[in-house]
Amino acid sequence: MFEPNAQTQTAVATTIALSIVAAQEKLGKKLPFPRVEACSGKTAGWMTWHTRGNRDYVLKVNWQLAQENLADYLHNTIPHELAHMVADFLYGNVQSHGSHWRYVMVEVFDRAPIRCHDYKVDHITRKHAKLRGKS
Ligand SMILES: [Zn+2]
Repeated sequence: MFEPNAQTQTAVATTIALSIVAAQEKLGKKLPFPRVEACSGKTAGWMTWHTRGNRDYVLKVNWQLAQENLADYLHNTIPHELAHMVADFLYGNVQSHGSHWRYVMVEVFDRAPIRCHDYKVDHITRKHAKLRGKS
């Protein structure tokens, strides 16, 4: 498993925290904080949760792609994944990249609702890996 440097770890953790705080202020609601776990391969990251009882959100971070594409990862991938959590938290079982998710991306995180990243992943597996939502 790829070991990220301290700068990457701090930047990702800070961006998650600041994004959630900003979203809470915008929505006037307390939001959960996801646990962060590592993932690998061509997927930049995904958000997952248990659908019964406590949602227990887990943000999977591909530390290698995060470190190699840090600025974009912070600006686009983290809001993309957090928007899955916020859409689920606010609206329940919604379509992965449907209208609720797009609403959260645009109105809460002020980002274009982009589904795919174009990080270079040739050295990992193949080009144009997709961001994955819950499914
Ligand atoms: Zn997604």
